[in-house]
Amino acid sequence: MTLHVVVIGAGIVGAATAVELLRDGHRVTILEPGEPGGEQAASYGNGTLLNPSSVIPMSSPGIWRKVPGWLADPLGPLTIRWCYLPRLLPWLVRFLRAGATEAKLTATARALRPLVLDAPERHRRLAEEAGVAELITRQGVLFVFPTRADFEAEALAWRLRHENGVRWLELSEDELRQREPSLDRRYRFGVLVEENGQCRDPGAYVAALIRHAQALGAELRRGKALGFRIEDRRLQAVRTDTGEIAADKAVIAAGAFSRTLAAAAGDRVPLETERGYHAVLTDPGIAPRYPVMPSDGKMACVTTPQGLRLAGQVELAGLDAAPNWQRAAVLRNFARRVFPDLPPNLPADRVKVWMGHRPSTPDGLPCIGPASGCPDVMHAFGHGHIGLTAGAATARLVADLISGRQPAIDPGPYSAGRF
Ligand SMILES: Cc1cc2nc3c(=O)[nH]c(=O)nc-3n(C[C@H](O)[C@H](O)[C@H](O)COP(=O)(O)OP(=O)(O)OC[C@H]3O[C@@H](n4cnc5c(N)ncnc54)[C@H](O)[C@@H]3O)c2cc1C
Repeated sequence: MTLHVVVIGAGIVGAATAVELLRDGHRVTILEPGEPGGEQAASYGNGTLLNPSSVIPMSSPGIWRKVPGWLADPLGPLTIRWCYLPRLLPWLVRFLRAGATEAKLTATARALRPLVLDAPERHRRLAEEAGVAELITRQGVLFVFPTRADFEAEALAWRLRHENGVRWLELSEDELRQREPSLDRRYRFGVLVEENGQCRDPGAYVAALIRHAQALGAELRRGKALGFRIEDRRLQAVRTDTGEIAADKAVIAAGAFSRTLAAAAGDRVPLETERGYHAVLTDPGIAPRYPVMPSDGKMACVTTPQGLRLAGQVELAGLDAAPNWQRAAVLRNFARRVFPDLPPNLPADRVKVWMGHRPSTPDGLPCIGPASGCPDVMHAFGHGHIGLTAGAATARLVADLISGRQPAIDPGPYSAGRF
């Protein structure tokens, strides 16, 4: 049966979902206030990694001990703005509880794996269909550590990855040097996860998916969803700032901005933004062969068509606070400790900075599936640190649910009802 589906938001989740729905023969309207794949979306400026190894949520046993440090150091890899703490507190408590035991972490890792498992291949197929196959690469991702002991300090995370089928090559100092000569000599141990991949330009990729969706018949409407008209638990229309759009189904894929829409469909989801930053250095004078994740920097150092992108940082300060651009400078400064040949003083026109909003639930699992107040409204948000990777599998799962097919991935763990 052909349905009219309104997809709310044109980040990676909305764009990929639109393509999957069109493939199933539905009529699709994409509602987006900004440019598809534009700077307003987390999907534009992320670390570009498509990592099937990304099954470890942010919250882990003992993490509560770090909270005082997050409050004290405004430029650390994870910080909380004091003035935001009162509003953040309920989310923070849930966040700390979500990773309190190894059993909880194990369950979350198991629930995340199907969403990321074959991400590079899923994205390659989508990108090929959209005519931008060259944007998806699969050369592996290099995790680098000062010493083997630093790797072993993360034993629980790597054991859970292994239990979920992630495999890797361990590299000695010499092997690391041969694989990635541009690295600082401080790094003496490496882990290469060969199944991991990269989308070299996520903004261009999302824009291409939306163009492809339009070519397949989707309508792109500029505007903002405000809520829904629901009668007897059935969706009648999506309410927007430019009037109503009559619809059979709607997909909430508005990233960090999805909370009020989810509430309008009956679900109170504790969705926060983990704000992140990037700095892109054009003509950086080095060309790392692999995407690099330095264990002591908590950031992604990746080559993109625009230059070397340094992406990371978690800042808990809400949707409205102004960016703190010093955080992008932190990324830039640390990169010189990873790649010593990076020039110390690039002119301002060769450094571009960006801040974006990760859509984050406290337990690190997204919300995917029918809303409790109206099953015609489908949640597809809350992917936190892994939304680019998980976007393709999420899109397939949402399309399966809307088209009434038995989904290949069990949506149970992602139900908004868990909150
Ligand atoms: C610094 C950083 C590094 C990251 N690195 C990685 C990585 O390496 N790999 C990875 O997998 N993930 C990474 N992520 C996470 C990833 O970027 C996000 O999880 C993902 O982009 C979320 O996609 P989305 O489509 O849900 O939301 P978004 O990309 O934010 O898109 C949401 C869209 O909805 C629109 N919208 C908002 N409100 C409305 C409304 N009311 N009506 C209609 N439209 C609306 C917005 O304009 C926006 O275009 C990173 C994130 C950051 C910030």
